[in-house]
Amino acid sequence: MTDRQPPELALPLERRVGKRTANVLEKHLGLRTTADLLNYFPRKYLKRGELTPIADLPMDEDVTLVARVLSSRSRQMRARKGSITDVVVTDGLGGRHSSVALTFFNAYRAAKELTPGTLAMFAGKVSTYRDSLTLTNPEYVLLGDESEFDADAARRPVPVYPATAKVASWRIRSAVEVLLDSVDFDRVPDPVPADIAIRDRLYSLGDAYRNIHLPDEFETALKAQDRFRYQEALILQTALARRRAQAAAEEATARPHKPGALLERFDASLPFTLTAGQREVGETLAAELAADHPMNRLLQGEVGSGKTLVALRAMLQVIDAGGQAALLAPTEVLAGQHYDSIRRTLGPLAEAGMLGGDAEGTRAVLLTGSVTGSARRKALLDIASGEAGIIIGTHALLSDEVQYFDLGLIVVDEQHRFGVEQRDALRSRAVRPPHLLVMTATPIPRTVAMTVFGDLETSVLRELPAGRAPISTHMVGLAEHPAWGTRIWERAKEEIDAGRQVYVVCPKIGDGESEDPASLEPTADDDEEGRPLASVQQTVQALASLPVLSGVRIGTLHGRLDPEEKSATMAAFAEGRLDLLVSTTVIEVGVDVHNATLMVIQDADRFGISQLHQLRGRVGRGGLPGTCLLVTQLEPGHPSRDRLQAVASTTDGFALSQEDLKLRREGDILGSTQSGGKSTLKLLRVIKDEPIIEQARRDAAAIIEHDAQLGDYPELAEAIELYLNPEKEAFLERG
Ligand code: ADP
Ligand code: MG
Repeated sequence: MTDRQPPELALPLERRVGKRTANVLEKHLGLRTTADLLNYFPRKYLKRGELTPIADLPMDEDVTLVARVLSSRSRQMRARKGSITDVVVTDGLGGRHSSVALTFFNAYRAAKELTPGTLAMFAGKVSTYRDSLTLTNPEYVLLGDESEFDADAARRPVPVYPATAKVASWRIRSAVEVLLDSVDFDRVPDPVPADIAIRDRLYSLGDAYRNIHLPDEFETALKAQDRFRYQEALILQTALARRRAQAAAEEATARPHKPGALLERFDASLPFTLTAGQREVGETLAAELAADHPMNRLLQGEVGSGKTLVALRAMLQVIDAGGQAALLAPTEVLAGQHYDSIRRTLGPLAEAGMLGGDAEGTRAVLLTGSVTGSARRKALLDIASGEAGIIIGTHALLSDEVQYFDLGLIVVDEQHRFGVEQRDALRSRAVRPPHLLVMTATPIPRTVAMTVFGDLETSVLRELPAGRAPISTHMVGLAEHPAWGTRIWERAKEEIDAGRQVYVVCPKIGDGESEDPASLEPTADDDEEGRPLASVQQTVQALASLPVLSGVRIGTLHGRLDPEEKSATMAAFAEGRLDLLVSTTVIEVGVDVHNATLMVIQDADRFGISQLHQLRGRVGRGGLPGTCLLVTQLEPGHPSRDRLQAVASTTDGFALSQEDLKLRREGDILGSTQSGGKSTLKLLRVIKDEPIIEQARRDAAAIIEHDAQLGDYPELAEAIELYLNPEKEAFLERG
């Protein structure tokens, strides 16, 4: 075993900055090596003399603020021995919250140093006491003194590190200063190839580290950040490009089109014609399935664009060629729906061996966690014997219990975060790598697709099938129109009287229970003004006692019902035995009930843009125009209402995905294990840095094309290795 971390970077901090500082950095920030501290980048930079607006400081969080001392006074404590120093600092902006009262206990240095007029940086937790802002025993550093000796220093931005209460920003800064002087950057391998560094005029690694930590100007800090962003993007994209190349070199069983078989008979039986996009993507898939290398493809398309049909045709081609096809859905409800609708769509073709079934046909089986007992044994047997050509299920399909006869194609439906590792787990279920098709609805931002699914080739379905009715979306602001609260249900009744069905979506199940603890959206019980959020349970009760809805058959659906109950409710709604379904977002993806024309989303401001867009895609699917009402209790002018306006203003998923990006935080978009490696992105912003990611993707493709083994790029190869296996590095260092 060799130490992967190059020695210059692996050197323990103790040997660089002294034992005492090293201990502090390790204890409170987990930083142990030279690389750890070098890569601990400032969160932002403060301009000296530019005062932090105090009114904007978050309460009860560790903050660093630059302020000027207004007054200072020391007094003896009455009850105990010792002194208190009261210091008032200001941002000079005026107004009610333009000053903070600092309290120091027995702080002789503070009493001496913090004289009126002094400019300093303070760190601590700001809280309120008797309507004024206070900061107790903050750590501080004076800012004025350096400039007396060095006129340039006055212009230099002050780096602000993600500090904890125990290690103030400036302590990190001084440790970094010492560190930068002692690292020999000539001995630090640079993952960015020299020709690219020259082409883009990137800082050398040493200059980049110096400028990201101790910049002379804001511009140089930004330039340093750009270099590290590009570096990250290149490492990630090269890793993905290499995966693509490796996957393409693997051998798979070719599943060529078989004339006169199931696929052709199915096509002949279709009651509609394929859209141009469906035909085009279909041809791509047909050709890739016929090759003896595995297909690895992402199919993106608007909700309702007919992705499932494209997938089904690919599945039939594989079955015709003697293989099996598995369809993996994110939830039991959706798996059940796929199972029902595929059997309906295929008719006798999916009933081989059954009475009235087609002798040449195939068989579909459903395998989810709730298929148990003899039904499960039968399903497993059909899968192992090859009787079942189409296998539909949830993650249960991945378990060791499932033995496939000859798995030729895996289709993954609607899983935005089905990253590299999950796909590997799936692929390992077959003897030879099966063909893979991942389907996802827009809006999924381009760069997220490039990152999470960067190792896949991409196809897009841009048009919706003809005859798809438009969905009109309206925001209903209850704050300014309280009467609309009842009008909504009259509207629902009109739909139901016309023989249609209605979805009502709520942000939570009951009191204190959110649907999904890992949900991206906030799921507090109350909104910001303390009003309770609509829950499924409370809404069902309220609607059941509403005179206008008397006689309406109401169903309930949420994630905590047991799976059988869920499927039964979904089936009842699909078959028209329920008029109105009150649910959480479990109906979000893929559910297809043609007769549903109205969707009421309660407290719609609690949902994200893409979630709302997905949700409303559930109505207007059967050629009947759909309506979606986004109900909110928020006051006009509340920023969250912008999201609702955005969704109401367009049905273009691509436009919405751009809007979505502006309003979301990074971590929400990219989970830590989704980026192709186990580490999270440090500086790279999937949204803002789209041009950087695209450039890196082109560069990575060129590098891999010319040198798939990265033999000429040992530094880059090393960086990829470290990126993909950070824990290996940690292990080696300790050993
Ligand atoms: P997606 O999975 O992309 O959201 P689906 O595959 O569920 O979309 O398709 C939505 C509906 O449109 C289904 O009921 C499907 O039968 C129907 N459909 C698919 N392709 C066509 C087509 N070419 N013409 C008419 N209807 C279609
Ligand atoms: Mg679908």
